[in-house]
Amino acid sequence: MAKGMDDLDSRFRQAKWMEPLLFEQSVEGKISHKYPKIRDGIRKEIGSIDLVIPREMQRSTPPILPELSELQVVRHFTRLSQMNFSVTSGTYPLGSCTMKYNPIISEWAAALPGFSWLHPLQDVSNCQGALELMWELQRWLAEITGMDAVTLQPAAGAQGEYTGVTIIREYHKCITHECEQRDEILIPDAAHGTNPASAAMAGYKVVVLPSSNEGLVDLDALRASAGPKTAGLMLTNPNTIGVFEKDIDQIAGIVHDAGGLLYYDGANLNAIMGITRPGDMGFDVVHMNLHKSFSTPHGGGGPGAGAVGVKKHLEKFLPVPTIIKDDDGAFKWMYDRPRSIGKIHGFYGNFGVLVKAYSYIYSLGKQGISSVAENAVLNANYVAYHVRKIKGFTLPYSQDAPRMHECVISAEQLHDETGVSTMHVAKRLLDFGIHSPTVYFPLIVPEALMIEPTETESKEELDLFIAAMEQISKEAYESPSIVMEAPHSTALRKLDEYTAAHPKTLTLSWRMFKKREDERQMQ
Ligand SMILES: *Cc1c(COP(=O)(O)O)cnc(C)c1O
Repeated sequence: MAKGMDDLDSRFRQAKWMEPLLFEQSVEGKISHKYPKIRDGIRKEIGSIDLVIPREMQRSTPPILPELSELQVVRHFTRLSQMNFSVTSGTYPLGSCTMKYNPIISEWAAALPGFSWLHPLQDVSNCQGALELMWELQRWLAEITGMDAVTLQPAAGAQGEYTGVTIIREYHKCITHECEQRDEILIPDAAHGTNPASAAMAGYKVVVLPSSNEGLVDLDALRASAGPKTAGLMLTNPNTIGVFEKDIDQIAGIVHDAGGLLYYDGANLNAIMGITRPGDMGFDVVHMNLHKSFSTPHGGGGPGAGAVGVKKHLEKFLPVPTIIKDDDGAFKWMYDRPRSIGKIHGFYGNFGVLVKAYSYIYSLGKQGISSVAENAVLNANYVAYHVRKIKGFTLPYSQDAPRMHECVISAEQLHDETGVSTMHVAKRLLDFGIHSPTVYFPLIVPEALMIEPTETESKEELDLFIAAMEQISKEAYESPSIVMEAPHSTALRKLDEYTAAHPKTLTLSWRMFKKREDERQMQ
């Protein structure tokens, strides 16, 4: 037994600080840094301040900022982080989100001054290295996905989807000339919510395909829906229950025969990279989340990159600018692309994320990339094998099919027999220093727990997770209130999720906070 497993209950106590807001800690006159006065020589050189900051952009009063020492600020954020949970403190098996550990060497690479101090308006002659990195990363991602060309511009998976679906629309406008009549995108009911959202934003009607009894694309339903109105199909493979769509050849055939294109939601490439490729499965467009599979931490809405790859026949529609390599070896931005869907993002995408992806792929190499996928799949199957045997938990759909990067467990039986729901299980896991899996998704699984251990968790960590699930099951049958009242060991106990997310109560800035406080006092 690994250390810590014999006494799960005392494994974790989260720090709890009564930490005031920075504004509440502010003391007039406190400062972190003293800047030198502008010297006379420099003042002469820049002349009037108006030349540096245009008059209409100057403030008449200073901005309202808290006044604090540097150490106060550092302690503030350290304390907040101690009341939070991250992959650097424990297992974070958030299915579909790939919360793998992101190697620090990638952070080092992105922080190199030559990269981090670049300005997007810098002349290309003095940032050739950055362009080369992007150019090469595009080629690697094209190779990994089996596509012919890649853009790095989109800032998120959802934006990549929007880009890809817009490319499909342009294809039908310019190539098949059936843009008007092909106004439907087919999407399985197990899909990630961003798929129908992106298709709708791009102007399409969404046709939902019901899953088969095996949790896969139902070929008959697909045949019945695909036709002259079909612009394309958006598919995740392995799908969101973690099973590979074994009929992918037929699926691709049906959609292509109907005149539609195939879109691959590759937000999560952890199961397939280095093993198989969307391009070889018949897909025409793919997006990939560099902030999932390729070493940028995510969650919390930080910068991401939703690179999009396309086959040759769609290359001319990619966003501008693209990067080209001249005959003399110099890299350039190419704007002269009349068929392009235009610009998708300010400048060229989130460059820091691209450096991390480059660093990650470079350090792993071809073999390393495929062993990431092999270990991710091995870990998910290990968890599926053990958790499905625990009382109250089942593994719905495709019983005999191996799981890929993730497995979806249902707690329906546990709920029926004990009243303990998936949400209760999720909260109780926190007491053991383990983050919850994704819950209640995909929608086709009742009381779903979508578990994605990723390749970076060791066998000892997985055993700990399984032991925690065993203990929760035992508690649910013997003393369910322990589970239902969890978490007990976190800084904040059960949150009111409605209030926490409701626009009327969610307070996003000091200004909002003050305004709401004043309103409360008036009442
Ligand atoms: C995360 C995810 C997305 C969306 O990616 P964002 O970067 O969050 O916009 C789309 N599809 C799947 C399957 C995902 O897991």
